[in-house]
This record gives sequence, C-alpha cells and structure tokens, in this order.
Amino acid sequence: MKTKVLKFGGSSLADSGQFKKVSDIVKADPSRRFVVASAPGKRFDDDIKVTDLLYSCYEKARSGMDFDPVLSEIAGRFREIINELDIDFDIDPEIEAIKHNLNDYPSRSYAASRGEYLNSKILAAYLGYEFIDPYYCIHFNSDGTLDTKSTREDLSETLAPLTNAVIAGFYGSGPDGNIITFTRGGSDITGSLVAQAVGAELYENWTDVSGLLAGDPRIIDDPRVVEYISYRELRTLSYMGATVLHADALLPVNQAGIPVNIKNTNRPEDPGTMIVSDLPKERELHTITGVAGRKGLSVIQVEKMMVSDGAGFTAIILDVFKHYGVPFEQCLTGIDTVTVIIRSDYFKAMKYELLNAIEDQVHPDTLIVKENLAMIAVVGEADADYQGSTVCILGAISAAGIDLNTINQGAGSLNLIIGVEEKDYEKAVRAVYNSIL
Ligand code: ASP
Repeated sequence: MKTKVLKFGGSSLADSGQFKKVSDIVKADPSRRFVVASAPGKRFDDDIKVTDLLYSCYEKARSGMDFDPVLSEIAGRFREIINELDIDFDIDPEIEAIKHNLNDYPSRSYAASRGEYLNSKILAAYLGYEFIDPYYCIHFNSDGTLDTKSTREDLSETLAPLTNAVIAGFYGSGPDGNIITFTRGGSDITGSLVAQAVGAELYENWTDVSGLLAGDPRIIDDPRVVEYISYRELRTLSYMGATVLHADALLPVNQAGIPVNIKNTNRPEDPGTMIVSDLPKERELHTITGVAGRKGLSVIQVEKMMVSDGAGFTAIILDVFKHYGVPFEQCLTGIDTVTVIIRSDYFKAMKYELLNAIEDQVHPDTLIVKENLAMIAVVGEADADYQGSTVCILGAISAAGIDLNTINQGAGSLNLIIGVEEKDYEKAVRAVYNSIL
C-alpha cells in the first residue's frame, strides 16, 4: 500500500475553516494515510497560538496564580472548532484533567503538549481516524535527546496494523514517564519520524506558504519558489537563516531517503518545494537553488610566517575555541594564515580570553579581528557550470561596489559562502540573487 505522511502546522489547523481544508486534502488521496497535527496556531496577525497560551498557563500555575481564565480561553478555541464542525467530542473532561494536573504538578512540557494532544484527538474524530498519543511511542533519553532506536521501533509497531491515524506532534515521553517536547516547531520532527517509521514514499509538510523561497522576501522583491532542493542544500540555507522546516526534521527523512514536499494548505494546487536526496537531472530552469545569509559574525585571522611548513597550527587555534566552548562557523586556511569565523555574541563574551590564548599558544605575527560581518551562502548542486556561476556572483558583488571579506567555495558544486560587512549585506544579497536567478 502506498503511504504518504502529512504534517499540518498550526496555521493549517487554527479554526474550523482550516480543519475543513485539511480534511479535503487528506481525503483527496487514499495514500495520505498518516497525519501529524500541530496545536491551533494564529487565526489572524495579533492572535495568540494555543501553545503560547499553554505556556502562559504553566507560568501562572508554577507561581501559584490563577490560570483559569487562560485555560478557559484555550477551551473556548477548541469548543468553537468542535461546535462549528459538529464533531462528537466532549472537551470538558479533557480541560478538567489539564487543570488538575497543572494544579498538582505544573510541568512546562506537559502543559505545552496539550495543544497537540487535543487538536489531534479532535482532528482524528473529525476524519474518523484512530488517534495515536506519541507519549507511548516517541521516547526521549534522560538528557532530553531523542531515543531514536526505540522510537523507530515503537512507532513502526504501533502504526503497522493501521490503515489511517492521526498522531499528535511535538512531544513524547522520557524514561521517568514524564512528557518531553521537542523545541518549538517540533511537530515537523514528529512528521519526519513517522514517515521514517512507516517507510513512507513521501512526507508532505503542509503549511501556509507555497514552498521555500529562493531568497529572503524582506530583501528581494517577489523571490521565486524553489521547486527542488537537496537535503544538503537545505541544510546550508537553513543554517544561514532560511526557515521552512525545523532543522532536526531533516535527519530521519534524509536517512530513509524519503522526499519531503512543502505544501500550502490554502493553495493545495501549488506544487510547493520538493526536498530530495539528489536533484533531478532534467532540472535546468534554475541552476542555482537559493541564497540565504545572516549577520552578527566576527572574523579572527591569525598569521605566522612559515607555519604552514609544520603541522598542527590550525588544530592549536581551533583547540582554543574548543577550550572556551565557543563553536566556530567556518575555518578558512591559507598559506601561513588561519581565519576563524564565529558568532559576534560568542566573540564579545570571550573576546579577551580567546585573543590572549591564541597569542600565548601560537605567538602569531599578526592577529586581525573584524567585527560586524555577514555571511551569504549560495547553493546550486545541479549547476553544471558552477565555476562560471561563481565568477558571475563575485563579479556582481564587485560591480555593486561591495568589498569581499572572505570567500569559501566547496569542491565539485556550487556551495559558495561569501563574507561582507554587515552594512553591505542587503545590497550584496540582491546583487547575488539578480546575478544568477
Ligand atoms: N505547537 C508547537 C509550537 O508552536 C509545535 C509545532 O507547532 O510544531 O512550536
């Protein structure tokens, strides 16, 4: 039997109108068998997500304040969906249970998880599908990391006999029987785990945009939607700030080679973005996949004459960063130079410790620090002429009168990371985008 796993985000399940769209989408294709649901999101700009209301309930409960009004607001949101869709579902005992549990033993994760728990139960009732509580099949270790092995086994075993089911997103349980959630937006991870566990042919991630944009719309007018992107390319763009899927959601589907289709619940006819292991060969329309970047970076450049003739110079420098627990973003090496790029907030907090330790350890000829930098990543694995594109991109930056600080180009395909001053960031992104897309 063909199997697709669908995950619907909060905005796709924010009210009864959205529930109807979700039902139409699910029922339109019999292979859409397993549905992962988020908690109700915002219905309009100033609205509050149910998860945020639940966090607020927890904060009040923890400090002994009355959380009843907030819980009633949450109950009201679910009641409205239930009534408008005429679903046979009694919300009152559920709300009473939450109230008791929060009074007796306020737990942040428990509180947050109730949005997904209730919304998925209601959606299951609406679709006529079985409800699966991930408490019993998504397991965390005592350090809060996911127990991938037992999760895969238990999810597979639970879902194998079922034709259809709705699985609550965002949470599971720890070894002590306590509820544990992923970080915000974590229902994406649940969807990915379910897709892996059932060996899905496709993971459809339904949201309120028609896919990943090839550039930041706050900087570029009307950027195009990316049709295909590889897991690796998406990892680079996400790392640089492009948001379309929770970063940890990529791993399970990537391991299983399951493509992910980002789709728009409000425009189901749009093809969206396909995230795949390898880009299709026939793709020729856009050889460059996308551009993303971020500000707030600092560069430390260490130079010492003749040091490249020996061994271990770079390792000694990187050990300094390790010693102070400062992660680095990039490390570029040249003849007798090592350039380390780190986040400015880390640098500011440890500036003198890092610089003194580098002085002590390697006695450099020069130690140059540049702050207020930005990085721009350009990816395009399918670009046959990636060298030509690199020349074109660098030419466009230069033609825009922007100074290049660093250039990092991986071997074999377009995976270019350019460092510019923060003040030039937007201009540089526009120059890059316009030169290649
Ligand atoms: N409801 C949670 C959040 O708002 C998880 C999710 O939607 O994926 O972050």
